[in-house]
Amino acid sequence: MINLLDLQLNEIEELMKKLGQPKFRAAQIFGWMYKEAGKGAESFDEMTNVPADLRQKLAEISTIGLPEVLKVQESKLDGTRKYLFGLEDGNAVESVFMRYKFGNSICVSSQAGCRMGCSFCASTLGGLTRNLTAGEIAGQILSAERDTGERISHVVVMGTGEPFDNYENLSSFIKIINSPKGLNIGMRNITVSTCGIVPMIKRFGDDFPQVNLAISLHASDNESRSALMPVNRKYPMGELLKACRSYTEKTSRRVTFEYTLVKGVNDSREDADRLAKLLRGMLCHVNLIPLNTVKERDFETTGKAAAAAFRNRLEESGVPATIRRELGDDIDAACGQLRRSTMSEK
Ligand code: SAH
Repeated sequence: MINLLDLQLNEIEELMKKLGQPKFRAAQIFGWMYKEAGKGAESFDEMTNVPADLRQKLAEISTIGLPEVLKVQESKLDGTRKYLFGLEDGNAVESVFMRYKFGNSICVSSQAGCRMGCSFCASTLGGLTRNLTAGEIAGQILSAERDTGERISHVVVMGTGEPFDNYENLSSFIKIINSPKGLNIGMRNITVSTCGIVPMIKRFGDDFPQVNLAISLHASDNESRSALMPVNRKYPMGELLKACRSYTEKTSRRVTFEYTLVKGVNDSREDADRLAKLLRGMLCHVNLIPLNTVKERDFETTGKAAAAAFRNRLEESGVPATIRRELGDDIDAACGQLRRSTMSEK
């Protein structure tokens, strides 16, 4: 069975050709699948302008397979909704729906599990189970729209998984949700976050020059970065920052560096100074993230005052930095924690 959500519009056009159908049927079907927020068709019967024999044929060979809501936690503080979605094969992934002044945003997962091994992250504890398909990534948006009845205008690929370790499906996913006949989400409203797989940064800049790029940096020197993020042994900071510079030159787009503050590990004044020296002059922005403590690890969060001091030190050195506002603090909204707690219940 084909999951139609895995296909781009031109791929559905090819399918129509194979079925001996006119090309415009593809746009009709695509339109039904992605209709208005929360109202996309899940069955072919709803597609009233598609001929009955084609609807029947489609039902024989394909599905519109949306992830199923297994669990929702809603924050009492800010309305953030955290979903645990079940996939066809029994795997589960997490997404977080957030309300901002500029619209609704969702953080989606790109893999079930992760093999990058970052030492502070819960998503990688059980290793990688498998890549998500394009339709399984897009389906998280559709299911959340269906559940809330609200349109989602911004997407961050910052949930479980390393998107550049699943590049083909990520790429398809971006094209599907960007399509005016699909969800019509602007390239500039999409952000992809990577732990720093250097060769893919160049490819991404070539393929998607308008999509925002975020890099998980988390350290100011190779020794401590390698201790936190094994990927740094393969792609050390020098190479990573060089790729980021080429990216900003080519795209004229600002790179966001994510820096999770871990008490006593990467939050000293010296760290701030080293980081500032590395980034000064680059078209970038540093997003400081207070660590979400993971019970399997004994890292501690940097306090509010120390985080502010770190930010000020960067700013004084000419590197723009903000401390990320925490949404959904009361619902374990971060980083693979819900998926894990459910896996261990089984
Ligand atoms: N693999 C990608 C995207 C998923 S992780 C990446 O590495 O960027 C999304 C972000 O959450 C990354 O910056 C990651 O380092 C950060 N993160 C992971 N665990 C965290 C934790 N316990 N507390 C705070 N941030 C965390």
